[in-house]
Amino acid sequence: MRKTIPNLLFLLFSLITVLAQQPDKLKASEIYESISKLNFLGSVLYVAAHPDDENTRLISYMSNHIKARTAYLSITRGDGGQNLIGPEIRELLGVIRTQELLAARGVDGGEQMFTRANDFGYSKHPEETLKIWDKDNVLSDVVWAIRKFKPDVIINRFNDDATNGNHGHHTSSAMLSMEAFDLAGDKEQFKDQLNHTTVWQPKSLYFNTHWWFYGSREKFDAVDKSNMINFDIGVYYPLKGLSNNELASMASNKHLCQGFGRLTQRGSQIEYIDFLKGDFPEDKANVFSGIDTSWNRVRGGKAIGDILYAVEKDFDFTNPSASIPKLIDAYTLVSQLEDEHWRTVKTKELKAIIEACSGLYLEVSADTPNISNGNSIALNIEALNRSNASYNLRSYSISTQAGAFEKNIALEPNVKQNFNDTISIPESFKYTTPYWLENKGTLGMYKVDDRRLIGLPETPRSVTVDFDFNINGVPISITRDVIYRYSKPDKGELYRPFEIIPAASASITDKVIIFENDRHKEISVVVKAGKDDLKGSISMNYPNDWNIYPDEQVVDIAHKGEEQSFVFSVIPPKFQSEGHISPRVTINGDTYTKELIEIDYDHIPYQTVLLPGESKIVRLDIKKKGENIGYIEGAGDTVPESLQQIGYNVVTIKPEDITPEHLAKFDAIVVGIRAYNVVDALKYKQKTLLEFVENGGNMIVQYNTNFRLKVDNLAPFDLKLSRDRVTEENAEVRLINPEHEVLNYPNKITEKDFEGWTQERGLYYPSEWGPEFSPILSMNDKGETPKDGSLLVAKHGKGHYIYTGLSFFREFPEGVSGAYRLFANMLSIGKDNIDIEKKLND
Ligand SMILES: [Zn+2]
Repeated sequence: MRKTIPNLLFLLFSLITVLAQQPDKLKASEIYESISKLNFLGSVLYVAAHPDDENTRLISYMSNHIKARTAYLSITRGDGGQNLIGPEIRELLGVIRTQELLAARGVDGGEQMFTRANDFGYSKHPEETLKIWDKDNVLSDVVWAIRKFKPDVIINRFNDDATNGNHGHHTSSAMLSMEAFDLAGDKEQFKDQLNHTTVWQPKSLYFNTHWWFYGSREKFDAVDKSNMINFDIGVYYPLKGLSNNELASMASNKHLCQGFGRLTQRGSQIEYIDFLKGDFPEDKANVFSGIDTSWNRVRGGKAIGDILYAVEKDFDFTNPSASIPKLIDAYTLVSQLEDEHWRTVKTKELKAIIEACSGLYLEVSADTPNISNGNSIALNIEALNRSNASYNLRSYSISTQAGAFEKNIALEPNVKQNFNDTISIPESFKYTTPYWLENKGTLGMYKVDDRRLIGLPETPRSVTVDFDFNINGVPISITRDVIYRYSKPDKGELYRPFEIIPAASASITDKVIIFENDRHKEISVVVKAGKDDLKGSISMNYPNDWNIYPDEQVVDIAHKGEEQSFVFSVIPPKFQSEGHISPRVTINGDTYTKELIEIDYDHIPYQTVLLPGESKIVRLDIKKKGENIGYIEGAGDTVPESLQQIGYNVVTIKPEDITPEHLAKFDAIVVGIRAYNVVDALKYKQKTLLEFVENGGNMIVQYNTNFRLKVDNLAPFDLKLSRDRVTEENAEVRLINPEHEVLNYPNKITEKDFEGWTQERGLYYPSEWGPEFSPILSMNDKGETPKDGSLLVAKHGKGHYIYTGLSFFREFPEGVSGAYRLFANMLSIGKDNIDIEKKLND
């Protein structure tokens, strides 16, 4: 079913999307602040690479103190990070981090933009980054962002020096910003964009420097700062009862999946921006000096300023609606401005202020959170004017159908009007899903076909209602996304975005299915109904050398939202092999292959994502010893599930259960990623763990960072972590200890086992270790010295202690067979010494 976004949607095409959360109800102080911002005609674009790179102190200062329209351009959505709050990784993590950025901007008052670049994981050099990103396209997107937002001032978070040793994405973000600064104003560059926007030359470009770019505070103190501008970003906002840096902390606290929940900060604090390009301001105290940021900046603006400066000056905090007549006068003039950019930006701001001054409550809620195409929903429209302004609702129109509902009803003060309509979702409307995930992209880029969507933080909602009002006699239209409003006895009133979902979606329970031998496995496939009375069939797609039975099963689900589970038998080939399987649901001749993923956290709006419902199948050639594994969870990984897949019995051990008696039940203990960074209790349990090793157990510790380690000694012997990492996932791996048991038993590990790894080899390798440790592997990124600390094995008492920075947590979910085989050896080590001695003697 091919779907197109209705054009209507783009009539109100804008950078900020209204989240379908509880609508903002501005307090009088906030209305006043919005009027001050309305009267400032200047803008700042902040540029960095990832969600959480942005300096919220500076964004908040520009937005709330200077009153500039301020945006953060994050080159990526942060897919490559780790998730501290749940299981979502990769594209799903990018969806969460996108929403966290929007939540942060909701606090600091900025807007949010992106490019099509994908965060493919750590990169050491901008050269590598820009190759994987498709530099021309990302550069085009940065130029596009500048042309659309039209900033006077651009501030880079990072240094553009390619030799600075920073994350390649960081340095690239600054390099791209530098280049785009010179191109955005040139009409010969990226000409196709000019069908949708106009050229723009920002005035100046800065680097948001900091002492840590210089190595120490002392070195930074000694630097010549004649080219720098500084701000005290600790200013206090009495209208908010908060300091700027306090507000900024609250904004960055939204990056919860990255562990940014921290204490707030306040008090005087200096930020520096270092001039790079353009015009240096005559007045160093004002980054906008030389730019007219008054209404005089725009042709026809003087008369608007005359009205609006008076509105600001005479604002009545006890009765904001007193400003409505003047605001309406200004609105009429603003909507006649020739300059399209300022007309669009200021009309939008002004409308929101007029609404807020009227205490307007305008909401369209559906009777269900989601529906599939061709089905009907009931809408409840609530319109309430809580002021003495004259509101006449002339008509409203719903994006799902042609024509308007004529009303001509006066909204008398505080008299609620309700309208009920039943609408049908046209077949042509697209499913709700992040637009950048609709097509399969490359490692470094999302594929977005519609130019107008590029840069938007999220997909504009397609089911909307346009209301045509006459406010004090002046026609003003206001648009609302349809939402779903409901309540829970233990949570109160809740809001969700209204969504269009497929009639059927299907998912295979496991994303990677590992076959440790040639026995068949039963897999479970779940079909979810997006409508009532779903009847059809399900079958599976699979590679030639595999088999799946039965061929087809009957789908019959009575109610929308209900699920039906199916069991299929997957029969692997005799030899090592891998491929993909996917479900195919057929309903009335239409085929559905996507999985519907729901993301539900308290700090961001509810999200649904549609992705291909496929799973990877891997027939492994693997042997293993030992059976019972205890897993100590760290910052979150799915290693336990992966080990279960290859036949281990894995039990998660809570820190309080780390006792000699409990540990004695296990053949090996595996410690999850960064456990020694995030689990406080390990401080008191390390002795017990190391005793378990002495008594004959195996202990495998996955990577930790040096920052905030909870223990003095990670290992029974000297072990010093470093920041060494090998980010090239296909970097050569040299077996420097080929005779070692861990490379020979029970599986013979060869260079071949390091083929097909994803994202990276590993990270935070130890750089120094005691003589008790045997280094097993050596590897390095291009142009670097060999790093030998990725896998260190030591005998301790009767058992073995293994420290590894290899990224098993990334490889397992991708079904990388060599990673499984090597990990099986790590778990098996010492479990059958007689056998291994015999083997080595053979
Ligand atoms: Zn970053």
